[in-house]
Amino acid sequence: MSNLEPDPEAISLTSGTYRAADVLEARKTAIGDGTEVRRLLPQRTLRTIGAWCFLDHYGPDEVSRGPGMQVPPHPHIGLQTVSWLFQGLVLHRDSLGRRQLIRPGELNLMTAGRGIAHSEESAAGRPPVLHGLQLWIALADAERHRAPQFAHHADLPVVRDGAASVTVVVGEYRGERSPAEVFSPLAGYEVAVPGGDDFTLPVREDFEHGVVAVDGSAVAGGALIAPGLIAHLPAGRSAIRLSPASGRRLARFFVIGGAPLGEPLLMWWNFVARDGGEIARAREDWVAGRFGPVQGYPGPPLAAPALPPVPLKPR
Ligand code: MN
Repeated sequence: MSNLEPDPEAISLTSGTYRAADVLEARKTAIGDGTEVRRLLPQRTLRTIGAWCFLDHYGPDEVSRGPGMQVPPHPHIGLQTVSWLFQGLVLHRDSLGRRQLIRPGELNLMTAGRGIAHSEESAAGRPPVLHGLQLWIALADAERHRAPQFAHHADLPVVRDGAASVTVVVGEYRGERSPAEVFSPLAGYEVAVPGGDDFTLPVREDFEHGVVAVDGSAVAGGALIAPGLIAHLPAGRSAIRLSPASGRRLARFFVIGGAPLGEPLLMWWNFVARDGGEIARAREDWVAGRFGPVQGYPGPPLAAPALPPVPLKPR
């Protein structure tokens, strides 16, 4: 287990003094028809990492019997959703009429802007195991009323570095840029490192970062993490050292980063807004059917929960 300890030599080689990573624990919750997820963002003590404002990690779950994951039609405003799989097959449908399968290594990027509705479901012919992430990106104030759009990216850059590899899901890495259109400076990488190896990921110093250990324990930026934990690394470091435990052929990480968000957000249910009036109007629009139908989902849409009894305020 010695490889789970921070490497003192690596720490002595770094320039400047890094603040230690904070480790935050997911809370378990359920989505859709009961798929259990580990909600890593938002947290009471950490709302956002850059503009990343929501992060669920689910699986690996056995989905060959029963319905698998079933997330009925529901609305979004003010954000982008990032769907990313490590294993499995999921079908996306939305109120723009798009119907898109997603497989591991592919990105579904939905820009809600002023409003969109979508569903996600385990698809027919799926492999037996489902394992993935759902993330949201808060749209900056100047972009959040834009028209909704949906994009599927099946050919993302993969940067190889010895036996390790970095898939550039969002943003740029070593000169390779993801085709995903985002509206603030962001990074999103899947990083695969052979078990027992160390890998140094160069990062932008003006970004804060979060590191998720996808499928085993690891040390990230000096902090011990495992599935269900996220390491938060404040801005000001130029590299993150990733050291997975030995025993796996490849250990995977998902790294998110961005310039710390300077805007107060108000998040409620599936909405990212700035004040309680916007939230109430979006809820009313959903109840009244003004987001438009999601065609083909085999079941009714999600009902909006009741608004809280006290006024919603940004935080
Ligand atoms: Mn959604």
